Amino acid sequence: MSKRNAKLELVAEEMKALGYATVDAIVKHHLTQSKKLPVAMGSREEMDSIFLEEAPEEGKNPKEVLDFVLQHVMANTTLLSHPKAYSFVPGPSNYVSVMADALATGFNVFSGGWAASPPAAELEIITIQWLLKIFGFPPKKGGGIFTSGGSMANLTALATARNIKCGKDFSKAVIYLSDQAHSSNIKAIRVLGFKEEQVRVIPTDGEFNFAMNKLKNCIAKDRLQGLYPFCLIGSAGTTNTGTVDPLREMAKISKKENLWFHIDGAYGAAAILAPKGKKALRGIEKADSLTIDPHKWLFQPYEMGCLLVRNHKNLSHTFTEKPEYLRDIEGNTSEINFYDLGIQLTRRFRALKFYMSIKTFGLTAFRDAVAYNIDIAEKIEELLRGSRKWQVVHPATLAIINFRFNPIHSDYDELMLDTINQYISEKMMRSRKALLVTTILNKQVVLRMCLINPRTTLNDVKETLLLCEEFAEAFEKANRHMV
Ligand SMILES: *Cc1c(COP(=O)(O)O)cnc(C)c1O
Repeated sequence: MSKRNAKLELVAEEMKALGYATVDAIVKHHLTQSKKLPVAMGSREEMDSIFLEEAPEEGKNPKEVLDFVLQHVMANTTLLSHPKAYSFVPGPSNYVSVMADALATGFNVFSGGWAASPPAAELEIITIQWLLKIFGFPPKKGGGIFTSGGSMANLTALATARNIKCGKDFSKAVIYLSDQAHSSNIKAIRVLGFKEEQVRVIPTDGEFNFAMNKLKNCIAKDRLQGLYPFCLIGSAGTTNTGTVDPLREMAKISKKENLWFHIDGAYGAAAILAPKGKKALRGIEKADSLTIDPHKWLFQPYEMGCLLVRNHKNLSHTFTEKPEYLRDIEGNTSEINFYDLGIQLTRRFRALKFYMSIKTFGLTAFRDAVAYNIDIAEKIEELLRGSRKWQVVHPATLAIINFRFNPIHSDYDELMLDTINQYISEKMMRSRKALLVTTILNKQVVLRMCLINPRTTLNDVKETLLLCEEFAEAFEKANRHMV
């Protein structure tokens, strides 16, 4: 690319070569990923030493740029799709959706309004209808929109709740959520301009269950003070433990108190595809709005979140603005302009990956994958309970399990247990052999596995636990004087 190129074009042969080489790299990665080390690390200094340069005035051969990126970027990235990536929420993804993203980007489909691509809008309508049905929302009245992720879906939901319940003046409005609710909810509340004193964080009990009585008392007290309770946020699977709030009771209270009931199902809602998950999520169909996050447990690549609403008009009432230059493309009301249902005007074509992956594998494959995930977490719980070295701190719940190294007869105090479990995780990360970090439950440092990758086998987990035990025993040996 030394000659000037004001059209920013490659010739056909170069385009193909770059494309094929990229696909070859992606396919090779998918086929060999499980043999790679999932954890990547790098300091800012190390990264600077590789990448820091002025924007180059002269171009290079595309293959050279690609090779550099494959070698230095892709090979140094933590693999959230790796079977031994257990931490945070893994991103299992799937190859069909990866190619769908390539298509959507390749044709640069504008997914803002109907007119730009009727099939893109139609596929968003259809796939949202699939989801409404899966979650038991009213098929005609309900609606929704795909977002960049769960955070944006929560923000979109709470903006809608505020608009519908408060109108323009929300100075006395109060919103309720539990101390286990995801941080993105608090972030959204702040972005929307609520003050700290308008937020009630209801403490959960020792088992992370939502305290309905505390909620009821809180609402009564707020009303007495002339405040305006307007929204309740429930979690359908907390990110820490997978615990599902008492959704049916919360729906009842919301109805009685005239609250908007938002459910954050970004982690766990997808469990509805499996019989055990469906049972755990009873009441989810009663929400006014529901966040789900297809780039987590619906196996889509980043970024794809989704907001479903009981009444689709609530979205258009909240987000419709009509600048002059969009006047001419209004069209039929059944021909949805998704820019009227959310925050973004220009939107990428997210529905395509969901559509193509469901069409290719069939919904049954997704159901089986989710059921497998829930079952494998339960098997690991059994395994841990059968061992003299491990203690289950929170049982397998929607494919999440929390546990710690705590050998029978060890007499370790809490401080020692925290230290040793922290050590296991740090050693594991430094070995790069599994992505396994700690969380804090009831002030204890515990290890947490989130098992939503259908390619994770029981053997993967056994190998990881054995390695944990080796680290722990080495620590015990080296610290005899302490233990
Ligand atoms: C992951 C998560 C979110 C945030 O979703 P992003 O897609 O990361 O923006 C919100 N709520 C819960 C419960 C989550 O697990």
